[in-house]
Amino acid sequence: MTAHLEVHQFPVLNDNYAFLVHDAAQGITASIDTPDARAILSEAERLGWTITHIFNTHHHHDHAGGNLAIKEASGCTIYGNSADASRIPGIDIKLADGDTFDFGGHVVEVVETPGHTVGHIVYYIADESIAFVGDTLFAMGCGRLFEGSPQQMWNSLSRIRQWPDDTRIYCAHEYTLANAEFAMSVEPDNTALRQRFDEVKAMRRNHKPTVPTTLAIERQTNPFLRADVPEFINAIDMPGQGAVDVFAETRRRKDSF
Ligand code: ZN
Ligand code: FE
Repeated sequence: MTAHLEVHQFPVLNDNYAFLVHDAAQGITASIDTPDARAILSEAERLGWTITHIFNTHHHHDHAGGNLAIKEASGCTIYGNSADASRIPGIDIKLADGDTFDFGGHVVEVVETPGHTVGHIVYYIADESIAFVGDTLFAMGCGRLFEGSPQQMWNSLSRIRQWPDDTRIYCAHEYTLANAEFAMSVEPDNTALRQRFDEVKAMRRNHKPTVPTTLAIERQTNPFLRADVPEFINAIDMPGQGAVDVFAETRRRKDSF
């Protein structure tokens, strides 16, 4: 019988989240990225879990920097994008867009989401309605375009946006309050956004995580998923413009906000 996966989330470094995904039936545990090897290993030990897998989203140091230390300590298997293999330390299983693999009796789907980096991938587990999106999508935000183009990132976000409303989105950083302030500057009349801004302020005041979020909430409040929504296009005053141009302008404004 297939059991539900348990996701254990905890803050590491300045504003990263670490995620341990555990299947009790098979006694396997995946670390989603490796922002802080020491913290991840000690948290796993505290829980009585042995890390058997690492699922990397991209090569940045706050995502793959702990790979080798965790692999050395646990003998785990490291999954990452084949196209980025030279930048993923210790990679064992080289994935490509559309690949699927089994984890604890659940199908994990690999989706390539270039934009933040060209080799970024995300992990979607449809039967559990969960996704680990790294630095592609954030609560009310998206990753900076360090390597990819606005067109690539818009395509990547559009693929994520196709998943069901109740998909829980595990993003790698707690950037939500700053993202909300920017979103409010662009779309102050969005009532769902105003309400969420208040909620997020209260949560952060109480040191509560705003991650995971859901796709339903992001569709309503995330400016970077709204570049083809008429209300948003009006709010940013780009009538008649295409989604990629609206997205690119929104990203530009956020970069200098
Ligand atoms: Zn990154
Ligand atoms: Fe990051």
